[in-house]
Amino acid sequence: MSRLESRIYLSPPHMNGLEPLGVQQVFESNWVAPAGPQIGQFERDLMQYAALDGYEACALSSGTAAIHLGLRALGVQPGDRVFCSDLTFAGGAFPILYECAVPVFIDSGPADGDWCAQMDPAALERALREHAAAGILPKAVIIADLYGQSAPYDRLLPLLEAYGIPVLEDAAEALGAHFRGQPCGSFGRIGAFSFNGNKIITSSGGGAAVTADPALMQNIRCWSNQAKADAPYYLHEALGFNYRLSSVCAAIGSGQLRTLRAHIARRRTIRARYTEALAGLPGQILGDPPGCQSNAWLSVLRLERSCGVTPETVVATLERDNIEARRAWYPMHCQPIFRDAPYVTAEDGISQSEEFFRRGVCLPSGSAMPDQVLGEVTDRLKAVLRQNCGVQG
Ligand SMILES: *Cc1c(COP(=O)(O)O)cnc(C)c1O
Repeated sequence: MSRLESRIYLSPPHMNGLEPLGVQQVFESNWVAPAGPQIGQFERDLMQYAALDGYEACALSSGTAAIHLGLRALGVQPGDRVFCSDLTFAGGAFPILYECAVPVFIDSGPADGDWCAQMDPAALERALREHAAAGILPKAVIIADLYGQSAPYDRLLPLLEAYGIPVLEDAAEALGAHFRGQPCGSFGRIGAFSFNGNKIITSSGGGAAVTADPALMQNIRCWSNQAKADAPYYLHEALGFNYRLSSVCAAIGSGQLRTLRAHIARRRTIRARYTEALAGLPGQILGDPPGCQSNAWLSVLRLERSCGVTPETVVATLERDNIEARRAWYPMHCQPIFRDAPYVTAEDGISQSEEFFRRGVCLPSGSAMPDQVLGEVTDRLKAVLRQNCGVQG
């Protein structure tokens, strides 16, 4: 197989063959609408496969919608501060602006070790202290579980509990991951998942909000369906959104969940192969931080500071072989749309998220990628690092 014929994508959908059967049932029952029994089934399947006992899910049109309704359920109002991971995807931060609230971005770190992409407890501690002193504590905190790892909740949650600030866990990338045996999605009052086409499973676009709090769930459900009140006519007591998932997408999602564990196992294997292949070269693949069992959604290469090769070079070189790699998320505080947002680091003038962006590359990680193709990618990657970093061999 020549690379010019078939492009290797970063994280393409991986179908298992069960999805069309579910979709066929949707057609046979004529629930080609966002209200069929497949929705409830998908919500129950999700809670089972995510190991979220005692939780309820509301299937939604996207992970972004889940975060938006989650913020509203936590009572975020215009002008409120909302702390948010600085290193994340914009869809996990935009909903703060939908509500005209003020995002405050919290740096990632510490720089060394496998926690480097997650929210930095030291930066969070500082932000809480300074905002408490100014009397502007946040209404909520959005913590992202980046690249399928969990955030260091053992250190983040006690800081927030001390001030009674609720967490909205952005587990869009972390379905099936655990920290100290507890599943991602369950570390906040509300969790958000995404089933976008590039995630570990996909419903061809979709998301879910999850919570163990029935009152929060009742609001999220109601608002997601145009806030239709329980009345024999169209009565709206609250502001509604058209955020429901379609039955067709729910059926795809239920089919995908059946191989979630296999997808995770394969992505972890792929990550292990990259780690082996790059041994002795000036870059490391992010592994599982202590206590974390990651779903290895993306294998992320962090180039050593001393290494002459830049992320741009790696991406451009692989691109010449029709292999898609991407740079790490560009930090939110650097984004033009968020230019006015405050940003808090643990130490003045040291941005760990910018440092991560300067050195991070996301590698092809799709669970459908065969060993032979993975071998071609690792060979190319080793060659780039050897050539550009002056490593012998
Ligand atoms: C994908 C993603 C989202 C948004 O999910 P969508 O389903 O694409 O709206 C939010 N946050 C993070 C960290 C993501 O990776």
